[in-house]
Amino acid sequence: MGQKVLVIGSGAREHTIAYTLLKAPSVDEVTVAPGNPGMLKDGIHTTQLSQSNHAALIDFVKDNDYDWVFVGPEVPLIEGIVNDFAAAGIKAFGPSKAAAQIEGSKDFAKQLMDRHNIPTAQYKTFSDLELAQDYVHEHGAPIVIKADGLAAGKGVTVAMDELTAQRALEDIFIDHRFGSAGAKVVIEDFLDGQEFSLMSFVNGTDFWPMPISQDHKRAHDGDEGPNTGGMGAYSPVPQIPQSVVDEAIETIVRPTVEGMAEEGTPFTGILYAGLIATADGPKVIEFNARFGDPETEVVLPKLTSDLGAGISAILDGETPEFTWNESNATLGVVIASNGYPENVIKGAHVPEIDVDEDSHVYYAGVASDEHGNLVANSGRVLLVETSAPDIKSAQDKVYAIIDKFELRGMFYRHDIGFKALK
Ligand code: AMP
Repeated sequence: MGQKVLVIGSGAREHTIAYTLLKAPSVDEVTVAPGNPGMLKDGIHTTQLSQSNHAALIDFVKDNDYDWVFVGPEVPLIEGIVNDFAAAGIKAFGPSKAAAQIEGSKDFAKQLMDRHNIPTAQYKTFSDLELAQDYVHEHGAPIVIKADGLAAGKGVTVAMDELTAQRALEDIFIDHRFGSAGAKVVIEDFLDGQEFSLMSFVNGTDFWPMPISQDHKRAHDGDEGPNTGGMGAYSPVPQIPQSVVDEAIETIVRPTVEGMAEEGTPFTGILYAGLIATADGPKVIEFNARFGDPETEVVLPKLTSDLGAGISAILDGETPEFTWNESNATLGVVIASNGYPENVIKGAHVPEIDVDEDSHVYYAGVASDEHGNLVANSGRVLLVETSAPDIKSAQDKVYAIIDKFELRGMFYRHDIGFKALK
């Protein structure tokens, strides 16, 4: 009998996790809570349970005999859902509340990096507007202002001039744009270089790195427009040499995993390192306590081993096996509702997108209308992913799929992967 797994979350990331699990020989059945109606096309089940109702989720797992739970998003992790599952005797893959602070508090992450000499931007934390203003004035631009808590990837201002930096401080302290997430602000030095994402499976003491990928945070072509949750990604990232990846594994991932274990907050789950390849080597921009979105949608399709077997091995204290297709390229493009990220206009009709066997559509912000058709109901609607022998062919193939459709009320970037093709 194969395993029955519950995945928590509702985005394209969770669609990818669920789809990859369902393809795994060790897994028979996958349900996503709350999931989205786009997932049903792949034989994934969904259940209308909120990711923040831990008690209802625990009852659901027990009543339906799920073998274990995969927690996709950061919010339930930071709220301690893995602790709650553990207390109820349920195996859940993800960090404890204490370990999830590596994402939940930028200040926690920065102090951890300080203690273990993990390379990152110099920074200072402020909870007082005037002191923060003085610091920005003395330091000058470029400079980076970050709301301390969770802000869905939108709490960061990379200020190329002082006025922009001062405005960002006012937004946080006077207009309370990020609510309690902005009670503290981290101000850090601007790092120059290409960004990449290095995610690893972690079992508390050891880790298994995945192939690297690169996200596109800005809303519009050429990295213009506001920061978003991410508009597309690809893997591998050929302009980042393997030596830089190896250095990141040794100077960043290893001391983070070992440091957290030593300090009594061992990390189990997916550790996401958002890195920048500077002239002085790789440095940390941020850590996340879960799979990246949209990186997952281009990384998990490269997994050639059984995802369910790998994770259940970790949950049972055994050594997992993860193997990857290192020779192909994957590329994914997000289709978003018009106005995303600032003023999302919901309700666009989502057409049926037909793809070949090397491509897949992962759904995110979709709902069913009264005729059972999908309509957009939040910012990021879906992602189209494909794999091909190289990045250029993957890019051509994805856009050949998407450009056929007249996507009214939605938009996408036309240049995903451009840094690899320069
Ligand atoms: P974060 O939410 O911390 O990932 O930041 C969002 C984006 O802001 C990152 O993906 C980077 O593009 C940019 N960023 C954050 N920190 C820095 C930094 N210290 N130097 C340059 N860019 C940064």
